[in-house]
Amino acid sequence: MDGASETTDITIVGAGAAGLAAAIFAAEAIRGTRGPARKIVLLEAARRVGAKILISGGGRCNVTNSAVHPEDYNGARNPVRNILAAFDQQAAAAWFAALGVPLKREPSGKLFPLSDSARTVVDALVARCRARGVALRMDARVTDVVRSPAGVADGGAGFTVRYGDREVRARRVIVATGGRSLPRTGSDGAGWEIVRRLGHSVTATHPALVPLVLAAPMFHAELSGLAVTVELSVIIGAKVIDRRIGSMLWSHFGVSGPVAMDASRHWLAARTRAGPAAVAMRCNFMPGDNFERCEEWILKAAAAHPRMMLRNLLAERVADRLGAAIVRGCEIDPAIAAGQLPRDRRRRLVQALTAFDLPIAGDRGWDHAEVTAGGVPLGEIDYRTMESRRVPGLYLIGEMLDCDGRIGGFNFQWAWATGYLAGRAAAQPD
Ligand SMILES: Cc1cc2nc3c(=O)[nH]c(=O)nc-3n(C[C@H](O)[C@H](O)[C@H](O)COP(=O)(O)OP(=O)(O)OC[C@H]3O[C@@H](n4cnc5c(N)ncnc54)[C@H](O)[C@@H]3O)c2cc1C
Repeated sequence: MDGASETTDITIVGAGAAGLAAAIFAAEAIRGTRGPARKIVLLEAARRVGAKILISGGGRCNVTNSAVHPEDYNGARNPVRNILAAFDQQAAAAWFAALGVPLKREPSGKLFPLSDSARTVVDALVARCRARGVALRMDARVTDVVRSPAGVADGGAGFTVRYGDREVRARRVIVATGGRSLPRTGSDGAGWEIVRRLGHSVTATHPALVPLVLAAPMFHAELSGLAVTVELSVIIGAKVIDRRIGSMLWSHFGVSGPVAMDASRHWLAARTRAGPAAVAMRCNFMPGDNFERCEEWILKAAAAHPRMMLRNLLAERVADRLGAAIVRGCEIDPAIAAGQLPRDRRRRLVQALTAFDLPIAGDRGWDHAEVTAGGVPLGEIDYRTMESRRVPGLYLIGEMLDCDGRIGGFNFQWAWATGYLAGRAAAQPD
């Protein structure tokens, strides 16, 4: 490499999902135009490319979803809608097929590579970058991006991008450094400092899609490995601010699984907003039923089978191990016959079954979070191009923006869509 004197057309910072997509779309847009060859450099801090993609979706990479709506995201609704419409899930699936990675749809709506291997996704993205002449440089941690003073004789470069003891000049820069989720993959939040120095703001951030830790006394450890369908509500005071039904997985530390992970960002945001004391996470182990309906069911079932052990009766509606733990938590003898349950105990049991307050002590932190809530506000970006409204020639994409999706392929869809818009726009001549 020719070090300090190197001049590029587009420099992209961060070779995660968004940066790789932006590089490919930029290179292909340039290919479609006449004129001299233009150089695209992709700088990546890590030694190996695609660490996060490789472990995503349990190593299978949930690339996108068959139904993607703005409501699947936490982010300013209008920009999110427009960005998703510009490159939707069908476009993503067609693009991956063209890259040699056909996708398959699972019953949940999630789309995975037919190969069931995230490796095929990374390999295809890197191969296409190389085929299109993108210079991918690993172990290249960018420390700063600065605007060149107007009028410098630098061949039109608007920015200087510094990494190690080197620098690259660029007409346009795309920053795709991710958030802070799973920092060992390379995304440690440094990109936000870079764009802050360029004049952007960054909203408060916290982990999203993160497992939750439960405090004692609680029976999570004994249920470890059990997945149950529940309704989770995040409540501030008496107001429900998020409610969702799905699978929750008990573990030795607390709870995870899609519904708990999706609810986690709302619980964390609510605590920041209202203070820990005002926030509760309520769990209904009989989703769809409320207190009255649940009590009615128990009364009817007990009348029909008065000698049946309460635990066995509950097993009709909740997993046996969970039912036993709840019964014990209500200080009820698990061997008691259903017909002999006193009224006060019955009502306590019904309350625990339909409105159980999970004693959440905290979250598992960035090392276990799949995504970041918060980031650069979408209002600071032109959503048609992903160009900064504050710094012409600068583009911001992917997880570093203040937008996060729920579990199901939505976060990668965001990375592909924002990469598509920025790559094509940055490739346009002045
Ligand atoms: C365990 C796990 C599983 C997941 N599974 C899924 C899934 O199946 N489906 C889904 O949709 N989403 C999934 N996600 C979320 C998804 O991976 C992210 O939302 C997505 O990868 C974000 O892409 P990005 O390119 O914006 O950021 P990142 O993927 O974080 O990439 C940012 C890149 O920038 C580099 N970088 C950072 N700072 C610098 C710097 N200063 N200089 C140079 N390079 C820098 C980093 O090393 C990194 O490679 C998962 C996340 C995790 C952690």
